[in-house]
Amino acid sequence: MSVYVFGHRNPDSDSIIGAIALSYLKNQVENEEYIPVKQGDISAETAFILEKFGYADKEPALKTSVAGEKVYLVDSTDKPHFQDDIDEATIVGIVDHHKLGDIITSTPLEAWIRPIGSSNTVIYEMYRCYGVDVPKEIAGMMMLAILSDTVIFKSPTCTKVDTKAVKELAQIAGIEDYKQLAMEMFIVKSAVDGASARDLNTRDYKEFNMNSTKVGIGQLEMVDITVLEPREDELLEDMKKMKEENGLHTVLILLTDIMKEGSKLLVVSDDASKIEAAFNVKLENNKAWLKGVLSRKKQVVPFVQPQF
Ligand code: MG
Ligand code: MG
Ligand code: MG
Repeated sequence: MSVYVFGHRNPDSDSIIGAIALSYLKNQVENEEYIPVKQGDISAETAFILEKFGYADKEPALKTSVAGEKVYLVDSTDKPHFQDDIDEATIVGIVDHHKLGDIITSTPLEAWIRPIGSSNTVIYEMYRCYGVDVPKEIAGMMMLAILSDTVIFKSPTCTKVDTKAVKELAQIAGIEDYKQLAMEMFIVKSAVDGASARDLNTRDYKEFNMNSTKVGIGQLEMVDITVLEPREDELLEDMKKMKEENGLHTVLILLTDIMKEGSKLLVVSDDASKIEAAFNVKLENNKAWLKGVLSRKKQVVPFVQPQF
């Protein structure tokens, strides 16, 4: 029986490349066939990575139902981030670098979870653990996935393990100026022309169950967030709609400026005072600047969660 390998909904590069890299590794060391799949459309950033390393025609297939299947999860352990029927699948393993979520299993599993910058760094460690060489193209893609998740090493989630992995993977991939390539990737990621407010709000969007209250948090990582200034009201209007449609208490969107190293927070909430308390800020027109905030998992979720 095959094992389907996939990351979270609204897949980012860590999810897609992680599924590809982990499947390749497992296929070298296990008898079962591991198949990388995705839960939704890939981003422009991920398309850039696949294209760059000759994987454009090997994009993982869509898999939105997993009842009765064997699965391996990448980049999350939060149930809302997976298929609606995830409870009916057999989870054989997890690779992640987030807080432990609410996934439970009925059978034994392997779990590779570390508080480091990227699931791809954890997967790189697995390659070393199993003594399997990383193919050149996969090394290049893993390198960019780590550089994306760590915001080119600027994120507070980035560790020495991540920088070392990037340097080693760059060598395998034959990439000299990996920071330059990563910057090209972030420019692709920053494109907003022609995107609707909903496209932007959901580009990297996750819902969290916070003590039985639903909170949605989206993030746009850009090289210059001022291009979105004329559209902030439109984004807020759409956040109100998302809140109603999905029965959420709060919707937060982070406009993260990777050069200025901070995020403009947009807030729509039944009780905005919770968000002001979480970050110790006063909102003006439902907005606040959060200096130094680059990471949703490390600088946003842990502060919002206790308010619920
Ligand atoms: Mg992710
Ligand atoms: Mg990740
Ligand atoms: Mg991210």
